[in-house]
Amino acid sequence: MAEAAETHSLRLATPVRQLPGVGEKRAAELRRLGIETINDLIRHLPMRYERHQAEGGIDDLTVNTLGSVRGWVARCRWVGGGSRGKGRFEATLRDEQRTLALTWFNAPHLRGRIKPGMFIRVEGKVALRGDHPQMINPQWEDLTSEIHAPARPEHLKPIYPATEELRSDSIEQLIRGILSRVLDRITDPLPESLRSHHVMPTLAEAYRMIHAPEHEEEAEAARRRLAYNELLLLQLGIALKRHHNEHHLEAPPLRWSEAIDHHIRARFPFELTESQQQVIDEIARDLQKSHPMNRLLQGDVGSGKTVVALYAMLQACAQRYQAALMAPTELLAEQHYLSITAMLEGSSLRIALLTAGQGSAGSRQRQALNEQIAEGQVDIIIGTQALVASQVAFANLGVVVIDEQHRFGVLQRAAFRQAAGTASDQEEPAGASDEDEAATATAPSATQSPHYLVMTATPIPRTLSMTVFGDLDVSTIRGMPPGRQPPRTRVVPPEKADSVYQYIAEHCRGGEQAYVVVPTIDESGHESAVQLKSVLNHAQFIQDKFGAGLTVAALHGRMHRSERERIMQQFREGGIDIIVATTVIEVGVDVPNATMMVVEHAERFGLAQLHQLRGRIGRGEGGRRSVCVFIADPATESAQSRMAAIENLTDGFAIAEKDLEIRGMGDFFGTRQHGLPPLRVASFPKHLDLLALAGRDAAAIVKADPMMTEPGHRVLRKLLLDYHGEALGLVDVG
Ligand code: ADP
Ligand code: MG
Repeated sequence: MAEAAETHSLRLATPVRQLPGVGEKRAAELRRLGIETINDLIRHLPMRYERHQAEGGIDDLTVNTLGSVRGWVARCRWVGGGSRGKGRFEATLRDEQRTLALTWFNAPHLRGRIKPGMFIRVEGKVALRGDHPQMINPQWEDLTSEIHAPARPEHLKPIYPATEELRSDSIEQLIRGILSRVLDRITDPLPESLRSHHVMPTLAEAYRMIHAPEHEEEAEAARRRLAYNELLLLQLGIALKRHHNEHHLEAPPLRWSEAIDHHIRARFPFELTESQQQVIDEIARDLQKSHPMNRLLQGDVGSGKTVVALYAMLQACAQRYQAALMAPTELLAEQHYLSITAMLEGSSLRIALLTAGQGSAGSRQRQALNEQIAEGQVDIIIGTQALVASQVAFANLGVVVIDEQHRFGVLQRAAFRQAAGTASDQEEPAGASDEDEAATATAPSATQSPHYLVMTATPIPRTLSMTVFGDLDVSTIRGMPPGRQPPRTRVVPPEKADSVYQYIAEHCRGGEQAYVVVPTIDESGHESAVQLKSVLNHAQFIQDKFGAGLTVAALHGRMHRSERERIMQQFREGGIDIIVATTVIEVGVDVPNATMMVVEHAERFGLAQLHQLRGRIGRGEGGRRSVCVFIADPATESAQSRMAAIENLTDGFAIAEKDLEIRGMGDFFGTRQHGLPPLRVASFPKHLDLLALAGRDAAAIVKADPMMTEPGHRVLRKLLLDYHGEALGLVDVG
């Protein structure tokens, strides 16, 4: 079988369908595993290995171990079952010493293929039937015409990710059949000097070592090489993007003066904390430069990021530039709109709210707003994804603030740049569309870009921030505004719920307010085993059972915006005592008098999310201590760790580290929350050292050859564009 294929050449792009033994059905199974070409097949890596004994006589086989032996087929028979194809094929293998029983289940095709008198080699796990050794479903090959083929040495048998229909064994056979013939087609993207400096195998060697390792260390070394490759590409993408931002993008320099500073501060109803002041200095300095700021502002929930963002926006407005603020939810956009409007009351600045809730992209209302934005009649635009989703063209966008970055990802910033570029790039020929953007960006003239400020309350653990936000500079607000105290947190079992609600109701009668958070909107479509408290039912339940003299209202994302706004407004004014809500209130909602929170089914929430939720309370003045109760029935170990962590930790940075520890880094990348390409080989913390190494190498490469045009970098450059180009904005580089 392998011989026949040897004759025609294989390319990495060759579809696996063209391999001998791969029919329609098998090709479909391979596709399910993401394998369409030889290249995909080579990149399908073993999950683990099983030790395989050196080939010897039947007597040398060890029970429960993989082994292989060769011998003469003595007897064969088919033991048919009832239905077609069911049954087993049995054979006896004999060598000089003794016999081995072979059984293949449901393998009628072996009838007539394995015959007495043949000389075959079998390979499989050895079991005992009575005193006799046997193998079930062994792999086999015909050695009748090559009786003296060399014996198989001790080796590791790779175990591949597989499906019911396509077993690891079959994948192994496929890969073994092509491996040696495609290795010389694999070009190593790594410059030779780097490779030898790191004492790493070539890429081709690494693939050989990972698919057919002689020992564990070899497999491990191969995996490191492949992980490094992957991380180098990622780090190069980031380094190139950073370089591009600094050298090929132009942003309006936003002047700063004492007078402007004084003017802006006068708008804030409080003194800035020292930490807020410090990050504002960092931001104001960036904004004065003529290349775009790309800064991440991290600060725990409640640390006061909003005024910092507003400062940056006002610095743009002071020079007659527009500023945009993009929030992850409509509710939050609405709230930013309200609080910013309030702080800017009496100023001449014009503020607009743009969310999907205000009519679809094509509606007349939206068109009118778009026109105002395009003509510069609006100074501050606050919105959701709708801001980038629809073709909003800005007259002269100076600053973009993206709130709660973890919900967006790297991609959004690229989208904004396009929106900003289309309207402000005067030299562009008329009729240039978004699609032309990549092409025009390659022209020698610099591209216009706004300054970016990205805010997050879920700090990325230090170990990873370099990767996740690698193209951003980071500012951190430490500590809280004066008077803020972390809520007292308790985790209680569901049996305690009644007494919790009694406590809440009592305090509400005393003038405080509360949030109750539940995981779903209604009960349809959820696992029946767990009766989740739904927003609507639960609001009714609390009203009926505990709410005498109190007003309880439901709030969720599927409500009409005006309805939601009305409820939040009423809550702010004290007309509602208890809000029962989904996680729509997770981010940023700010009602100082709300001092209590109950979260139902807390075990279903992530750690960072619970901390976000808790951050909604405890914003009150006057030193009133707020209370947060998580009602939970944690069944798994991970849920128990999360509950313990949320009860004991109050600092968002500590919680982020813990979250990562509990969830594992694979999950962190796996969710794709960060808009990064998924990592296939690299895993953390095992390869953290490689991440740092790749970061240093990438920086050096980009410094020496920013366009990656040197001959030694060509393969790398092509790979970068293929794998990460879009996700990391590399198309801009051209
Ligand atoms: P977050 O960082 O979670 O977005 P916010 O910006 O919403 O936090 O601020 C939380 C609360 O603290 C708001 O009510 C805000 O008005 C208030 N605040 C922010 N900075 C200060 C300060 N320097 N002094 C007093 N209160 C502040
Ligand atoms: Mg906020």
